[in-house]
Amino acid sequence: MNIAFIGLGNMGAPMAINLVKAGHDVTVFDLVESAIQSLEAEGARRAASAEAAATGADVVVSMLPAGAHVKGLYLGRDGAPGLLDALDGKPLLVDSSTIAPDDARLVGAAAAERGFTYLDAPVSGGVGGAKAGSLTFIVGGEAAGFDQAKPLLEAMGKNIFHAGEAGAGQVAKICNNMLLGILMSGTAEALALGVKNGMDPAVLSEIMKQSSGGNWALNGYNPWPGVMEGAAASRDYQGGFLTDLMAKDLGLAWELALGSKSTVPMGSQARNLFALHSAQGSGQLDFSSIQTLYRAGEDT
Ligand code: NAD
Repeated sequence: MNIAFIGLGNMGAPMAINLVKAGHDVTVFDLVESAIQSLEAEGARRAASAEAAATGADVVVSMLPAGAHVKGLYLGRDGAPGLLDALDGKPLLVDSSTIAPDDARLVGAAAAERGFTYLDAPVSGGVGGAKAGSLTFIVGGEAAGFDQAKPLLEAMGKNIFHAGEAGAGQVAKICNNMLLGILMSGTAEALALGVKNGMDPAVLSEIMKQSSGGNWALNGYNPWPGVMEGAAASRDYQGGFLTDLMAKDLGLAWELALGSKSTVPMGSQARNLFALHSAQGSGQLDFSSIQTLYRAGEDT
């Protein structure tokens, strides 16, 4: 298949590489030149714009930071037309960014009006999952579009869920990430408490992993430096899933809660923690660096 891939960041780059490896003809675009170059070295074709990448494509996959970027790409920005108005063909549109369900529904409805099929297909599994091709895809949109996209998504992921109609993928993803934010901050809190009271963080992690506190952060994403080889914590929290993006997702959970009159006290607490952490200069570090918020001042 001819695939256009837009957004080659921490997640997009390894996802696009897996599409190349699966034998697809992949044309890429990102605002950052070095990101395009890295993909070219892996066998992808470069394009000078998103529109150029998507022209003639069977499928467009986008992996952008937030809703504003996704709306800009498909609906247009600053007077320039988006892909929905710029393209002659009707490629299947798959957005894997994490954005507000209402934004996904807005783009999906505009796409449908113009004869496109748009799926919101956010992912879970982190950069490790993106590299390994073992992501979970959580897809919202029409069943026919889901069936069409599934073989392609299987080249990048292991578990492919049809969550429901347009926006449902984003709702499920936001619930998941609210839980992840709570679990990561709770894990960091427990580790800091144990270490302050004389525990070795590796020993404590192993105990909690095998006990009732076990969770995804402890199993594969330990926030304490040096405990887990390959985790962001063991490479100065570089790369991975940025604090700013977690703060964004917890903000999306908060908006979803407001709109549905839901109560999310734990999610709100986590949002405040990650927003504070970001405000203190850690927005571009991996979100597991929330551990440093609990360690601040421990030597004083
Ligand atoms: P990132 O910031 O590393 O990458 C985003 C990329 O998009 C950057 O390379 C940026 O230059 C590019 N970009 C921005 N605007 C663009 C435009 N108009 N045209 C072309 N390229 C553009 O982010 P990421 O970690 O790859 O995350 C992408 C999305 O996936 C986010 O919505 C995030 O919440 C979600 N997500 C991330 C992870 C993770 O572990 N990093 C996991 C699951 C979901």
